[in-house]
Amino acid sequence: MTLAAAVETIRKTIEKTAKNRLLSTDSVTLLAASKGQSAARIEEAIALGVAVFGENKVQEAAEKWPAIKQRHQNVALHLIGPLQTNKVKDALALFDVIQTLDRPSLANSLAKELKNWGNEELKKKESSIPQFFNSSIPTFYIQINTGEEPQKAGVLPKDADAFIEDCVTGLKLPVVGLMCVPPADQPPAPHFALLRTIALRHGLRELSMGMSGDYETAIRMGSTCVRVGTALFGERKRELEK
Ligand SMILES: *Cc1c(COP(=O)(O)O)cnc(C)c1O
Repeated sequence: MTLAAAVETIRKTIEKTAKNRLLSTDSVTLLAASKGQSAARIEEAIALGVAVFGENKVQEAAEKWPAIKQRHQNVALHLIGPLQTNKVKDALALFDVIQTLDRPSLANSLAKELKNWGNEELKKKESSIPQFFNSSIPTFYIQINTGEEPQKAGVLPKDADAFIEDCVTGLKLPVVGLMCVPPADQPPAPHFALLRTIALRHGLRELSMGMSGDYETAIRMGSTCVRVGTALFGERKRELEK
C-alpha cells in the first residue's frame, strides 16, 4: 500500500469509529509513529496532511527534526519513548508534547528545568540543539504501566493517583493526559478502560492509547490520540524497534 493510501484508510477508519463511539465526543488525533523513518518519508506524510508525529528516542529526533520543524512550523512532535534525566534539556527543546513522564526523578528534573526556563527566557535561550528551540513549554502525559510488566516503563496503577497528584499539584507540571502501551499478549480493552478510569478521576482529558493493531478498539474506549506506525509506514526493521 502507498503511504497516501494508508493515510486515507486510517483517517477514514478513525473518523468512522470516532463518530460512532459513545464514550467520548472529543476528537481523535492521528499521531504517526515515525521511529526509523527517514526525513524524506516524514516529509511525504506531512505533504499528505499528517500533522502530529511521535519519536521514541531523543537522539534520533535531534538528528531528524530540527530541519523538518523549520520547514513545517505547524507540525507537532511528541516523545513516545523513555526519557533519561540527562536528556531532559534536549527533550524540552525538541518536543511539543512528552508522553512518557513515568517516574518521580524525571518529574523533578523536568520541573527544575522548567523553573529555569521562564517562557521569555526560553525564547532567548540558546538550546543545545543548534538553531532550534521550542517557542512554548511542552505539555505532558503520564505513562501508566497498566499491565504491570516489569520490563515496561510507566507508573504502576496503584501508584498512579499519588504520582499524578504530585506532578500536577506539587510540581505544577502541565500534565494534560495519560498514555499506555498494553501487554502485547493480552486483549487491550481492559487496559484502555483502566487508563480512562484513572484519567477521569483526575480530570485529565487526553488519552494516548491505540497502535496499529488496536486503534479502533482504543477509539471506542475513549482515545484522543492513536499512535500508528506500521499501518502507516509498513513494517519496521527489527533493529529499529524500541
Ligand atoms: C512504535 C510505537 C508505536 C507504533 O506502533 P505500531 O504497532 O507500529 O503502530 C506506538 N507507540 C509507541 C510507544 C511505540 O514505540
